[in-house]
Amino acid sequence: MDRTLMMIKPDAVRRNLVGEVLRRVENAGLKIVGLRMVHLSIEDAQEFYRVHAERPFYASLCKYMSSGPIVAGVLEGEDSVRRWRELMGATNPAEAAPGTIRKDLAVSLEENSVHGSDARETADQEIRFFDLKLPLRG
Ligand code: UDP
Ligand code: MG
Repeated sequence: MDRTLMMIKPDAVRRNLVGEVLRRVENAGLKIVGLRMVHLSIEDAQEFYRVHAERPFYASLCKYMSSGPIVAGVLEGEDSVRRWRELMGATNPAEAAPGTIRKDLAVSLEENSVHGSDARETADQEIRFFDLKLPLRG
């Protein structure tokens, strides 16, 4: 069993798609073991995405990610990092496979509705960022 960090990004929260995304997570058999709505400050977004600090889209991405609340969650399951990214689909919704969240729900390359960690080490780091390590179950 391993864990990954998911975010439901501002564009999806704004369009009332929180339930739709969580339903897809649960239908895929991934366990939601932590969940929290937060409104990131611009500084929070800059820190979370600092790996992209040199990329041309960084400033716009950080502004967008702090433009409204997001839902951050921890998903648990065998191979959870890969399985969640598969459900999400490719970064660019135009290239995402049919049936994926980004293909079905995303607005644009930037406003692509969801985030998922890209490796186990990144997942540990991203979960620590949100302090969502403790499962909210008995
Ligand atoms: N992004 C963007 N323009 C790009 C590439 C990425 O606006 O050309 C945004 C998009 O919201 C993406 C995020 O930056 O989800 C992080 O990029 P990354 O390459 O890590 O994609 P992801 O891991 O989210 O699929
Ligand atoms: Mg990434």
